[in-house]
Amino acid sequence: MQTLSDAPPPGQPPNPRRRTHERPTPDLEPLRARALEVHGRLCTEYGCPVPFFAERDPLSELISSLLSHRTKNRDSYRAYQHLRQRFPTWEAVRDAPEDAVREAISAATWPEQKAPRIQAVLRKIDELHGALNLSFLATMTVPEARVWLEALPGVGPKTSAATLLFSNLRRPALPVDSHHHRVASRIGLIAPGTGLEPAHRLLEALLPPQWDAQRVYDHHEVLMMHGQRCCFFERPACQRCTVRDLCDAFQTRQVAPVGAA
Ligand code: SF4
Repeated sequence: MQTLSDAPPPGQPPNPRRRTHERPTPDLEPLRARALEVHGRLCTEYGCPVPFFAERDPLSELISSLLSHRTKNRDSYRAYQHLRQRFPTWEAVRDAPEDAVREAISAATWPEQKAPRIQAVLRKIDELHGALNLSFLATMTVPEARVWLEALPGVGPKTSAATLLFSNLRRPALPVDSHHHRVASRIGLIAPGTGLEPAHRLLEALLPPQWDAQRVYDHHEVLMMHGQRCCFFERPACQRCTVRDLCDAFQTRQVAPVGAA
């Protein structure tokens, strides 16, 4: 069964089975060098710096991110816009009848799950912070802010990173979507079979700690773009791939690229 959230169920630790796929004591330096080389080549290919696509406040970005789970960008954007038009404030969303919120976000997948989840998140923020505003996260370190966000219902590492990086907070936290995850796995930046959730910590550890939000954003965007435009889920276009010589899956013939028999 698919899960709505990128977080473990409330009260449960992360799936221990996923940890078996993590590298136990990885030698990070060769992986860091490979990640930087991949970053540089893909930036040349797709163009860096990549313009930020939004400048929402962090609470708005958090809700937008919750709506985007397993939903096409176009549909989650429509759901977010409709929600904002239907309710003038986040307090109004929190206090609305659940079916009215569900109707407002019906363009997204699983509105029947996302509506109560969004209202629960809003209630929890109000309970913890006393106001529906996340601007205070700017005063925390990135790890502290991520822990705070991931204590909210249904918020995992992808959503917490998106909230910090994509919002007007512009903090250097690395989200990993399915394209980014696939490319990183094939290249060998993470071990085959590493889950999306542990991949966040492993891939972020490969980036220079002094990188600012723009460079972290560029890294996420160019790996995502590579997955969308070249390293397809089925039949990747390896013959025109700029990082082919760095790719474990290509070098060991684990992929069936376009043109292969
Ligand atoms: S060589 Fe092929 S599998 Fe490897 S990153 Fe490039 S497109 Fe993806």
